[in-house]
Amino acid sequence: MVSPRNTVPVPVEPALELVRKYNVPGPRYTSYPTAPQFSESIDRAALLTEVRRDNADGSPLSLYFHVPFCESLCWYCGCTTVITTRRASASEYVTLLEKELALTAPLMNRSRPVTQLHFGGGTPTFLPPAEIDRLAAAIHRHFQFAADSENSVEIDPRRLTKEHVEAFRRLGCNRASLGVQDTNPAVQLAVHRWQPLAQTAQAITWLRESGFQSVSVDLIFGLPLQTPASFAQTIDEVIGLQPDRLAVFSYAHVPWIKPAQKIFETRQQLPTTADKLTMLMTAVTKLTAAGYVQIGMDHFARPDDELAVAFNDGTLHRNFQGYTTRAGASLYGFGMSSISETDGAFRQNHKELPDYVAAVEAGRMPIERGYVLTDDDRRRRVIISDLMCARGLDFAGLSQRLGLDFAATYANELASLADLEADGLVTRQPGRVAITELGRLFLRIIAMRFDAHLAKRPTGFSKTV
Ligand code: SF4
Repeated sequence: MVSPRNTVPVPVEPALELVRKYNVPGPRYTSYPTAPQFSESIDRAALLTEVRRDNADGSPLSLYFHVPFCESLCWYCGCTTVITTRRASASEYVTLLEKELALTAPLMNRSRPVTQLHFGGGTPTFLPPAEIDRLAAAIHRHFQFAADSENSVEIDPRRLTKEHVEAFRRLGCNRASLGVQDTNPAVQLAVHRWQPLAQTAQAITWLRESGFQSVSVDLIFGLPLQTPASFAQTIDEVIGLQPDRLAVFSYAHVPWIKPAQKIFETRQQLPTTADKLTMLMTAVTKLTAAGYVQIGMDHFARPDDELAVAFNDGTLHRNFQGYTTRAGASLYGFGMSSISETDGAFRQNHKELPDYVAAVEAGRMPIERGYVLTDDDRRRRVIISDLMCARGLDFAGLSQRLGLDFAATYANELASLADLEADGLVTRQPGRVAITELGRLFLRIIAMRFDAHLAKRPTGFSKTV
């Protein structure tokens, strides 16, 4: 077991001043450039050229499957979903995924092993166990998995049976993340997501009994009717479930994109910025006191979990699913709205189900938009990844990895950190920029200083804290 990096609690009052100063809309940087940069006018042939180029580089594969269906809408939700209780949708969708796999797989060099597989949504457990088995057969027909592949699934405990868990286990899943958000019944009612704690506990028991190696719990702070005291109780109750990892996300309030969120404004139920910050700090204090290591911005893991080990030895990475230990894999996404990322390009599938269905049924790759990275994008992707993984910036190491003089090339960006240094978010030392404990709350703000696209892009992001 490694000895975890210490997390020193940050006082609320000075941090609150800084939140007021720096709490502007900004990306979460699960990719760089970020999705608003993708374009529908991209040349499809250029994207497929990048697939061929990717085939030659020999990197392992990461697969993502998006299952968009949910039986009811959680009003805070920012995901790409299709709300339906029509059960036949599951079988029809698996057939579409089979067809998309058959369209895409021949384009890929599939001698490369899959080192990562993720099912996200929506609700992957909307698929009944027999459909999960059918999808598993299709995936294994096309791809070979590394022995230590990290295979994960997002679980909605409200829609789960033991048979679902066993089906995902048969498919090869060994990690699960559970949507919980808040355990307080009043908050659950306010966000239209009723989920008794016993239901979450039952899901974790089934996952552990079935041999899942790692169970993660997702929480959100900043939801309606939450208070620092109520969220502290949520944290205590979740610690009692003994998850291996937790993600504690800031609620992204974007009612201009997600109109259901307007109800929180109408009812005036959202907590203040001060309360939101207190919730985050309470989470950090309680989780680190319980032995979890804070990873990057918003993740926590047991000290012997490979995510914590990677954080401590500087090998942590970030992708569309958040933080990961698996670096350098080419990501191939399947299903409505899924994103693929190779070294040179991003592709995103159609975000509306009818468009996705029409393309796949017609035998076309269901690409809606994409982006081909420039050399500058590739370099900034490395820099921003180092910042988001809270590694700071090591000038000599970056110069070597990027093949240029880092300090000279990014002198303007480094100079722009002066106000962040004055406010105690970073320290600039000879040959490196270090992120302080306080600065870890503002990783998105620090990363934004290296984002060359931000000024050109329309705003549409959530607040950064
Ligand atoms: S279950 Fe998840 S994806 Fe579906 S509406 Fe609720 S939060 Fe959104």
